[in-house]
Amino acid sequence: MLQEDSYRHKGMRRALGRTLAGKGIRDTRVLDAIMRIPRHFFFERAFLEHAYQDKAFPIGEGQTISQPYTVAFQTELLALQPGDRVLEIGTGSGYQCCVLLEMGVKVYTIEYIKKLHERARAMLSQMGYGGATFVHGDGSRGLPAYAPYDKIIVTAGAPTVPHALLQQLRIGGVLVIPVGDEKQQKMLRLTKESETKIRKEEFNGFSFVKLRGEQGWDAQG
Ligand code: SAM
Repeated sequence: MLQEDSYRHKGMRRALGRTLAGKGIRDTRVLDAIMRIPRHFFFERAFLEHAYQDKAFPIGEGQTISQPYTVAFQTELLALQPGDRVLEIGTGSGYQCCVLLEMGVKVYTIEYIKKLHERARAMLSQMGYGGATFVHGDGSRGLPAYAPYDKIIVTAGAPTVPHALLQQLRIGGVLVIPVGDEKQQKMLRLTKESETKIRKEEFNGFSFVKLRGEQGWDAQG
């Protein structure tokens, strides 16, 4: 059963929205989405106070729900258009998926850990979200069955940019992915301008759990 969503919770997420705006998030559609979604639903009751702080938090299985600022920053970089087909790699709790859905896009989300995949799918269904396809598997190879995508977001840190992801992006599409070592990554925004031309922008200062799988850290031996 879902927890209650009271005026107090709504007040806490409005405050979170103001914090994120203060940290430089400009896209009001992203801020509005964050202010609509009950992030505390993804937390045990005892940890309510943590749900609207701007920090990552453990969700079990050694994984985390990303920091709200990071969710907002990555979403803003995607420059979503209503109706976009978006691939998310690393479903985790399902919170980022809710933010994407609130922005009117179709989401394909893939998670490596079966327990997290099942929990997130059940949670979004309980919350009444449609419009997402949940897959259990290795997203470092993308999700060719539904390609091409307008946008791809990776929510785990990769050692390099997996080739498959660029292949599965349509021309004009955008891939947002943290790339670096095990401790720190740069956020890359890669725009596929043609089959052979990729425009790259980078932003410093992120720290994610590892992207596993064939084209993630498991390939590094
Ligand atoms: N987007 C998530 C959320 O909103 O809660 C946060 C995700 S957490 C920082 C990263 C997730 O990526 C973890 O759940 C992890 O199991 C998953 N992951 C890691 N490697 C993966 C892979 N190769 N394919 C799919 N998911 C992967």
